[in-house]
Amino acid sequence: MNNIIHRFDSLFHSIRLRLALWFVFILGLVLVSFSGLVYLSRVHELQAESVTRLAARLEEIEKFLGEGDIPSFSSVPDSGQSFLRPEDILAIYGSDQVQQRLWGPLSSLPQLNFPMQITNSESRHVIRYASVISENQKIDYAFLITPLLSGENLKGYIVIGTLFDPTEQRQSLLLTLIMFVSILLTVALAGGFWLADRAMRPVKVITRTAQQISETDLSRRFNLQKKDEIGQLADTFDAMLTRLESAFSRQKQFTADASHELRTPLTIVNLEAGRALSAPRTPKEYQRVLQVIQTENDLMSHLVNDLLTLARMDAGHESLQKEILDISDLALEVIERLEPLAARQNIVLETDDLPEVLILGDRKALNQMLTNLVENAIKYTTQNEAERDHRVTISTGCDLSLKFAWVRVTDTGPGISAEHITHLFDRFYRVDKSRTRTGADTESESAPSGNGLGLAIVNSIALLHDGKIKVTSEIGQGTTFEISFPVPGLA
Ligand code: ADP
Repeated sequence: MNNIIHRFDSLFHSIRLRLALWFVFILGLVLVSFSGLVYLSRVHELQAESVTRLAARLEEIEKFLGEGDIPSFSSVPDSGQSFLRPEDILAIYGSDQVQQRLWGPLSSLPQLNFPMQITNSESRHVIRYASVISENQKIDYAFLITPLLSGENLKGYIVIGTLFDPTEQRQSLLLTLIMFVSILLTVALAGGFWLADRAMRPVKVITRTAQQISETDLSRRFNLQKKDEIGQLADTFDAMLTRLESAFSRQKQFTADASHELRTPLTIVNLEAGRALSAPRTPKEYQRVLQVIQTENDLMSHLVNDLLTLARMDAGHESLQKEILDISDLALEVIERLEPLAARQNIVLETDDLPEVLILGDRKALNQMLTNLVENAIKYTTQNEAERDHRVTISTGCDLSLKFAWVRVTDTGPGISAEHITHLFDRFYRVDKSRTRTGADTESESAPSGNGLGLAIVNSIALLHDGKIKVTSEIGQGTTFEISFPVPGLA
């Protein structure tokens, strides 16, 4: 029962029914107006026919009664109606509009509106239409009222009546029209509903498929393969689902990578602590274990900090406090801070041209972006054994159109091959997967540490500043990271 009510309710609220009803309503309006016009034009024709008939009757009567302004009616017998057709009426009225004589099938005539002003012969005849009740039936008559004049004087009126619609054409026409309109509207309602149902069928498919799509299974697609509006809608949904699916899988991958990155140092801490506690150790041994724990702790806090930074960047522009600042100033700050680190690695950290270049940005975020780039440059440059003279150079400037400001970090490091460049900015992506940890395991003591988030952070910060990143690299020669930002007020 509930099911039936639900079905009726959804049918009642369905677009199909509304479309079909609108269609029928508009078609109904058109048909009713058209039928009205047909009916009215037939009535008009009947009027014209009745006028012609009345004029002919008048001529016959005038012939029968003889010529003259005042025909002699006294000679007409009361019952003898041979000069009249059976359905016709003839009546004589005095100048006071009181009926004097009446011939024909009716016992009395309805109230007629007589012409008052009879000035010339053209206004002699007047046509009146009136209904007469005879034997409980309403019959429409057309009357021709002709004033009887004796010179200028009105002597009375001669009234001739005839059936307005002798063959009852109006009724049969009305019946035909009503039947025609109702049959057409019924067919239109059924056809309209069928058409609307057909047009709406893909929507049902979309609804059903959408109900089946859960947030864990985003692999389903509508695949409607239609070029109409609904097909376009389905294609848009399919494209959106593809984007959602890849966003979800990135998210999943990210969570798995983050847990994996945290699990390794936690396991090491656990193992080292367990080993140290399992038996009494020498102070030197305890010191080594504590050092390992501290290193792993550093790695973890670095990772957590990077994850937090990424989460903040993912929150979008709200997390930034933008102001007009000189990117060269920022570059100098970063160089000053990282100079000791570079010196420790025997790397010359230098600047090229640093003109005043103003951009709109968040100081802290841009500082972090440059720090990540320069730290990477320092970290990986030492890996280039072919090159003895290691340098990292920072330069800033504007393009020729002065629409974009750029900052470049160039190193003389090992370079990055083209296949890796496309993935450099993916989260947790490292060119050499084995080079992830320093200090924790003795074999990779000299390898640079990294969690693969540094460039992902650089990318997020650049994007939030509408910046574009360009990487040019040559194996064995070095790498240049260039980030360009729109100059405020111009771009
Ligand atoms: P990581 O924490 O591993 O440094 P990043 O996201 O900063 O992660 O860098 C991703 C990868 O890009 C690194 O693993 C490294 O191999 C490569 N890379 C980044 N900067 C440079 C550079 N200046 N020279 C050579 N390789 C680089």
